[in-house]
Amino acid sequence: MVPNEEINVKAVLFDYDDTIMDVSEARSYAKQVIARELSLTTNLDQEHILRVIKDVETRMESIGQFDRRVWFMKVANILGTNLDNDYINELVRVYWSSWRLKSRLFPDVMSTLSRLRRCGFRLGIVTNTDGEPGLKRDRIRRDGVEGLFDLIVVAGDDTTHVKPHPEPFIRALQILDMSGDEVVYIGDRVSTDVPGAKAAGMYVGIIDRSGAVSFGIYGQGVSSPDFVFHSLPELLQLLGCA
Ligand SMILES: [Mg+2]
Repeated sequence: MVPNEEINVKAVLFDYDDTIMDVSEARSYAKQVIARELSLTTNLDQEHILRVIKDVETRMESIGQFDRRVWFMKVANILGTNLDNDYINELVRVYWSSWRLKSRLFPDVMSTLSRLRRCGFRLGIVTNTDGEPGLKRDRIRRDGVEGLFDLIVVAGDDTTHVKPHPEPFIRALQILDMSGDEVVYIGDRVSTDVPGAKAAGMYVGIIDRSGAVSFGIYGQGVSSPDFVFHSLPELLQLLGCA
C-alpha cells in the first residue's frame, strides 16, 4: 500500500502494547520489582534474578506463552528455589499492578483515533492475551481506552490461537463483516503483527516509533508489511484522513 494507491479501507485495527500503549517503561519496571521481591525472598543476587526473568520472558513470548504464573514458576525452577502457589499468585498481582503504574497512552493516540473516527473509519484492537482469560480486557478497560473502539479481539482469550496466527484477524473480519482488503492492521512487531494479518488479506502497517524495527527482514511475501511509518499522524496522511 502506498499513499496514492487506489484502496478502500474502512476499518483500522491496532495492536495494543507498544503500538497505542507505551509500555517500554512498564515492561522493565515490572520485571525489576519482581527481581527485587525474589531477591529478598531467596537471598539471591537481584541482577542475576533479573537476567533470568528476561531470559524466561524472551523464551515464553517466542512460544506464545503469556501466563506470568508459568513464567515465574520457570524462573523459580531455574533459580533452584521452591515457591508455593499463593506466593506465585502474589508475584503475578504485583507484576501487573507495577506494569499498570508505568504504562501510558502514546501522546498521539487520542487525536489520531478521533480524527479517524471523523473520517468514518471503524476502529478496533487485535491483541494477544496476557495469559489469563479476562486479564488483558481488564487492563484495556483500566487504561481507559475500551470505549474508543468498536471491537476488541483478545487472541488466546476470544480465539484458540494467538498472533501471529490468522485466527484472531479472521475473527475481527467476521465481527466487522468486512473483507481483508477493507481493513488495515497497525502493529509494532513484524514477527507477531504481520503474518497473520496478511494471511487474513489485510493491509499491514508497522509503526516504528524509535527506528528500532529491523528493515533487513523486509522482502516480499506474508511477513512483509505494506508500509512502515514513524508516528500516528503519518498514518492519517497515508489513509487520506489528515
Ligand atoms: Mg505490540
